Amino acid sequence: MADRVANQIAAGEVVERPASVVKELLENSLDANAKKIEVEFRDGGKSYIRVEDDGQGMNQDQALLSLERHATSKIREAKDLNQVTTFGFRGEALPSIASVSRFTMRTRTKNCEEGSELFINGGKLVHVKDCGMPAGTRIEVSHLFNSVPGRRKFLKTVVTESSHLMHLSKLYALAHPEINFSLLEGGRVIFKSPACDNLADRVMEIFGKGFAASLAPVEFQNEKMKLRGLAGIPGQSRSTRKEMIFFVNHRPVESKTLSYATIEAFHTFVPKGRFPPAILFLELDPSLVDVNVHPSKKEIRFREEFKVRNFLLSGLLDRNQKLGNEFKPIAPPADLYEFDNVSQKMVPQIDPAALHLYGISKEESVTKNIQVESDLFKSGEPNEFPTEAEPVDYSKGQEELITPELVGVRTDALASWRLIDRPKGDLALFSTVDGLVVFHGRAAYERVHFEKLEDALKLDGNSVSQSLLIPETFEADEVEVAIINREFDKLKTIGFEIEEFGRNYFRLSGCPEWLDPTEGLNFIKDFLAVSRERGKNLKAIDVFRDVMIDKSSIKTFESGGFSDNEIIHLAKDLLSCRNPFTCPKGNPTYFEIPTRDFEARFRRKV
Ligand code: ADP
Ligand code: MG
Repeated sequence: MADRVANQIAAGEVVERPASVVKELLENSLDANAKKIEVEFRDGGKSYIRVEDDGQGMNQDQALLSLERHATSKIREAKDLNQVTTFGFRGEALPSIASVSRFTMRTRTKNCEEGSELFINGGKLVHVKDCGMPAGTRIEVSHLFNSVPGRRKFLKTVVTESSHLMHLSKLYALAHPEINFSLLEGGRVIFKSPACDNLADRVMEIFGKGFAASLAPVEFQNEKMKLRGLAGIPGQSRSTRKEMIFFVNHRPVESKTLSYATIEAFHTFVPKGRFPPAILFLELDPSLVDVNVHPSKKEIRFREEFKVRNFLLSGLLDRNQKLGNEFKPIAPPADLYEFDNVSQKMVPQIDPAALHLYGISKEESVTKNIQVESDLFKSGEPNEFPTEAEPVDYSKGQEELITPELVGVRTDALASWRLIDRPKGDLALFSTVDGLVVFHGRAAYERVHFEKLEDALKLDGNSVSQSLLIPETFEADEVEVAIINREFDKLKTIGFEIEEFGRNYFRLSGCPEWLDPTEGLNFIKDFLAVSRERGKNLKAIDVFRDVMIDKSSIKTFESGGFSDNEIIHLAKDLLSCRNPFTCPKGNPTYFEIPTRDFEARFRRKV
């Protein structure tokens, strides 16, 4: 009896809600070396939970023992406690759960012929008997907290409890792609994923193709820590933190240190108020993870928060910058091109999978090309179009697509954009080898100049300055004087010419060339205001970024936006940016709509 009460008290502490029951059962299945796990629930887990595995199972004695308090088979010595039980329950989970539910366990080891069935109601053993059962363990928990009304009323709605339970199951499925994992709600499949070779496949199985396509791999390490996983590609963002998922030593965790460092690393890649998708696995010495937290809480702390933060931040930043540089070249690989008979031009090849839409077989499309070649030979022209055998210089065929208005090059000669029109405001439309680009002039402008600013600050004093026709004088109070003195060199570096002009007076005689000269003084005032708000511990680049983003005192344009020429230059400059895909705020600078999209929409070749 005393035990039963102890169990219920423990249950109060450790079994918070249906999802925490599932968590415990899943961890046990994993510990039992399961290769396949199935989770089913009803009514958010309030009325029914089943976790079934094909793990090592238990014989009848072991099964009975597993329901005794502190009967864990896992911890033998007190010193293990620190290492192993960081997140665990020290042999309390099963008895705790069984004390507050109707609990049925069926289990069999490979060596036993018969399985055992144990039925426990509100902590009282009702029966133990033999049963037929495949090797493994199946635990069913129904009427959770029915016997403890005080606890039951704290459960949230079915929808809320379901979403906790589903989220938790997904986390475990992500942490263990090697396990065949299914989740069912009252018989309806939520996901069913076979064992996967890698995380990306698992993500696709659980979250779908769209989400998987918004991610790219991450991997880096130092002597003490290792990080791997998937994170958003530049420009991808989410409205909540729900898709920022962290694991430490393979366990799902919540950690402010990890989530803040990630958000910070994506600062200029994701719009303000939105979050990068990320599924990240951190591995480090378990002794560096703080174990003195409540066992059922996922929130963890690190012994050396600062080191973990810096490791994550610098690694992710580095990765993002590289990705910004290397990200999908605007031109696709050359072998995706073919000569089009009708237009007499090189065009992106049709996706073979789409050929049937046009009623053409692969062979036909090949014959067509051969036809073209022999025609060319007849007319005596040199064979400048592709044959299967020899490598082709596609830039030749490409030239026909290009007019003198071509915009710059990102990685090679195929990356050519041609301005079509400026339909409205800041919008411009380009045709590209691949399709159409919809381009936002102002967003591009901000990105281009933001990177110039970054360069200027890094390069120490190479920024181009322009003189103001009429130097402007301004007054500054004591705080502002201090800021100007402190940041004087930085301001000069990026192209501001400021001199002291009597007590508390300054004269601005030059500003960076990217700034509209009439906005020079406003920029300085904004800079002072932002610096004052932010206090001393700021990096000049951050202040400049904020000034640029929030006050947008950069060059203003006459109504009607940019001229054709300006847009063409902008596009050229943008394409040579480190991160051409987003403005400093993290909003997109352009979208490319591939011709293939149009073909899919029109259901025929365009
Ligand atoms: P702990 O996991 O901390 O040992 P639990 O109360 O969760 O404590 O489990 C008690 C014991 O029951 C485990 O140590 C293990 O031996 C056994 N057990 C529980 N679930 C399973 C399972 N799915 N397969 C095999 N053995 C299990
Ligand atoms: Mg356990």
